[in-house]
Amino acid sequence: MVSHEEKVSRIISQFKKNKHTSPISLEKKTVSHLVPKAKDKKYAEEKLDIGDLDEILLIDKENLICIAEPGVTFEKLVAATIKHDLVPAEVSELKTITIGGAVAGCSIESMSYKYGGFHDNCLEYEVVTAKGEVLVCTPENENKLIFQMVHGTFGTLGIITLLKFRLMPAKKYVKITYHKYSTLKDYKVAIWAHYKSQDLDFMDGIIHSPGKYVLSAGEFVDEAPYTHNYDWTRIYFASTAKRKEDYLKTPDYYFRYNKGVTNVHPQSFILRILFGRLTSSNSALRFANIFRRIIPKQAMPVTVDTFIPFSKMDEFMEWYEKEVDQFPLWCVPYKVVHRYEWISDEFLSKLRDELFLDIALYGMRRKNPEYYYGIIEKKLMEIGAIKTLISTNFYTEEEFWTVWNKENYITVKNRTDPDNIFRELYDRTCRAARGLSLIFLLMPLYL
Ligand SMILES: Cc1cc2nc3c(=O)[nH]c(=O)nc-3n(C[C@H](O)[C@H](O)[C@H](O)COP(=O)(O)OP(=O)(O)OC[C@H]3O[C@@H](n4cnc5c(N)ncnc54)[C@H](O)[C@@H]3O)c2cc1C
Repeated sequence: MVSHEEKVSRIISQFKKNKHTSPISLEKKTVSHLVPKAKDKKYAEEKLDIGDLDEILLIDKENLICIAEPGVTFEKLVAATIKHDLVPAEVSELKTITIGGAVAGCSIESMSYKYGGFHDNCLEYEVVTAKGEVLVCTPENENKLIFQMVHGTFGTLGIITLLKFRLMPAKKYVKITYHKYSTLKDYKVAIWAHYKSQDLDFMDGIIHSPGKYVLSAGEFVDEAPYTHNYDWTRIYFASTAKRKEDYLKTPDYYFRYNKGVTNVHPQSFILRILFGRLTSSNSALRFANIFRRIIPKQAMPVTVDTFIPFSKMDEFMEWYEKEVDQFPLWCVPYKVVHRYEWISDEFLSKLRDELFLDIALYGMRRKNPEYYYGIIEKKLMEIGAIKTLISTNFYTEEEFWTVWNKENYITVKNRTDPDNIFRELYDRTCRAARGLSLIFLLMPLYL
């Protein structure tokens, strides 16, 4: 057994050995759940292998705390904690998303209406800086700004090598009741009532079409009259339109969308009987990463998570139905549990909502995907909404820093990666991800 300390030392020495002639990105065992982009420069970058950081080090049943390495997948984590009738306070709903990726990227699920994202339930990170320093970061210690800023900065501030986070009691089964609404107004009233009373263990929903809104209200139960899982021929999101209620074993509940949230393949029942066991989001992403250069643009589905302030939902949906009109959508209420340091002061000063709705669009195939990424992004800026940076982003640098907090980002960057070995956040997520280089962008200025 290699100890955690030995793994960290190996990373530091591997890190020091690298010549850093090009920016570095991380390599781990599981597939990345960033949306594959054909020209993303990350594919050609020098790699730092953090693949062996995938162990759970402690499950403390007394204090409801877990300590684990970043490459632990949510599937492995839930399998380990449920043996003690415990679960993490946020479980990203695809089996192979890792806890490190959830913190450095994003995480949203049906407990988010109570607990926010996975990072909101973390207590401590160990971070290795680009200079090979090992920092312990908590919300209270001298590294508190680093603790807050590593979330959503896509590995551009350092490597998270260890995480300490909260666990909570769980039961063996989840009962889900599906409430159907025909207007957005009634749907919102129901969401708001559950948000205020915090009476459910889980809340999310599927907007099947304008006029068909399903709210999935989940609660832990000790017993179940029957159970279903959605690992083979059944399609979870579709079941929410047909069923009144359902029972799932707790791990099956968490990973009910693992075959694709609203984008399940194969679509034909016969093909699902034959191949359904073999396919998952994980295999689809692996395929898309390998063949990204030859897959036609229109065959790469538009995938985008939008965080809409609750009060702006009507305006957004009215616009969306007219300009995009793609259904179903996944709807996940998300509580803003903290005035996040990574959001700009300007943005926060205008923010009145305590609840956001993550409206997730998965699997839209259109002739010109970039057009749709572009118009969605513009609308979000107009209504004071945020998108996760996992897909194609068109923000100009100026626009970007009106949403993300440049001052806090630069403060931490100067401390953890002064030579910009991991790339800077705007560059990584908006420029390099589209295959553009700084020189390319500056060229028109010199012409
Ligand atoms: C089709 C699809 C469906 C999705 N469904 C869901 C869902 O149901 N629920 C949900 O919450 N999210 C969902 N996501 C979003 C996903 O959770 C995020 O993209 C998440 O950041 C992916 O984590 P990962 O483990 O795959 O890490 P990666 O994609 O490998 O990494 C994400 C980013 O974090 C960085 N990073 C990874 N590990 C570390 C580390 N140890 N230290 C520092 N930086 C690190 C990487 O460099 C990268 O920039 C979905 C995404 C897609 C494409």
